[in-house]
Amino acid sequence: MSAAAPVLPSMMDPAAAEEMVRDAAAWCALHGLVVGDRADPRSGTVPGVGLVHAPFSLLPAHLPESIWRQACELAPIFNNLVDRVSLDGNFLQESLSKTKQVDDFTSRLLEIHRKMIEINKEENIRLGLFRSDYMLDSETSSLLQIELNTISASFPGLGCLVSELHRTLINQYGYLLSLEHKRVPANAASSQFAEALARAWAEFNVDSAVVMMIVQPEERNMKTLSQVEAVGQVLPDGTLLVDGKKVAVVYYRAGYTPNDYPSEAEWSARLLIEQSSAVKCPSISYHLVGTKKIQQELAKPNVLERFVENKEEIAKLRKCFAGLWSLDDEEIVKTAIEKPELFVLKPQREGGGNNIYGLELRETLIRLQKEGGDALAAYILMQRIFPKASSAYLVRGGICHEGLVISELGIYGAYLRNKDKVVINDQCGYLMRTKVSSSDEGGVAAGFAVLDSLYLT
Ligand code: ADP
Ligand code: MG
Ligand code: MG
Repeated sequence: MSAAAPVLPSMMDPAAAEEMVRDAAAWCALHGLVVGDRADPRSGTVPGVGLVHAPFSLLPAHLPESIWRQACELAPIFNNLVDRVSLDGNFLQESLSKTKQVDDFTSRLLEIHRKMIEINKEENIRLGLFRSDYMLDSETSSLLQIELNTISASFPGLGCLVSELHRTLINQYGYLLSLEHKRVPANAASSQFAEALARAWAEFNVDSAVVMMIVQPEERNMKTLSQVEAVGQVLPDGTLLVDGKKVAVVYYRAGYTPNDYPSEAEWSARLLIEQSSAVKCPSISYHLVGTKKIQQELAKPNVLERFVENKEEIAKLRKCFAGLWSLDDEEIVKTAIEKPELFVLKPQREGGGNNIYGLELRETLIRLQKEGGDALAAYILMQRIFPKASSAYLVRGGICHEGLVISELGIYGAYLRNKDKVVINDQCGYLMRTKVSSSDEGGVAAGFAVLDSLYLT
């Protein structure tokens, strides 16, 4: 985000700066701020082996307190919006109808969604664990939403630890840096998410039922979609049974990318789970509300009004919407071809590394226009946001690099509802991700960014 005068360890005695990096890396190892080390072949297959500290920023990114409050206030409003939009099956089907023609993945998700409409499937208990991402636009100083993640929102666990790391370092070295640890906001995202899962389980109200985590292959003590297909069934009363255990809540840490569905088995499992009475986090509807196409549709005039009554809430939502366009708008396609540096071209994908920028954006638009038909409908166009760059120290594999960086703020939100009773509608901590300003993409797992926290100014 925008930085005040950066406080650099280089202003410290270099020996002290080096000590701080070592302390920080040791803290990561001691407190589980670690990820699998791709350089170790046994990592991911042998538990507890091949771990390395997660890439992190040595000091938290500065953020004006007013912006922080604005982002926190938006969380329950977005939670509610997702729930409301999810109930309008026709809106989801219609908004994504063109995307469906050209994007197989979205088409498969919509097919499951359509089947649920046909059988009048109702989700009485609805659980959403979301992360809304923002950047602070330097020109207008406004907080603009990048996207809203409604499935597999990553890093509630490690994000909390980074906040702890920064508070600890400031406590220890604050006298050298003139920083106060209290200005790093408390961050309890992981326990709040766990609490929401537990509350959903309690609402389901079957003591013997379990919470099932859907993961990508090579993780432990959880189920992959193909295992669910092999050993899962839905009883006539809707109960989902997996390995003979009743399932109360299904949490998807996988299932958001086409790679998670290498065969028909995974799609069958997704459909099986959707047909059951288990609480799905997310349901197919919540998943679809998080698509970039729906983000763009919601930004059109008079669409929010269909889902939100409160005028102040509508104004708050609209204020954080960046420019978003569908590619059937010929004028905007022409402008984007002329000035590609002002736009981002986005397909309906998650997980980072999928967007198209700059010259490639221009070439892609020209090519898709030539192809004709609905090819353009697989994408949306978004105004490119330019946060102010500042200097920071990024630590990867124990080595500290100074760089010119920009940050993206993620605010977690949890929503739980049982019929008319809203059980939870909260903001749940945050995640800052920081990357060198010359990089277009932002994912931490994808290798573009480091984990960060924030320092209120
Ligand atoms: P994904 O679902 O793959 O994370 P995002 O929409 O978050 O897709 O885009 C990935 C990254 O691309 C973001 O983390 C951010 O760094 C960058 N990005 C996305 N949209 C914009 C934008 N409008 N302006 C500037 N950078 C953007
Ligand atoms: Mg995403
Ligand atoms: Mg993202």
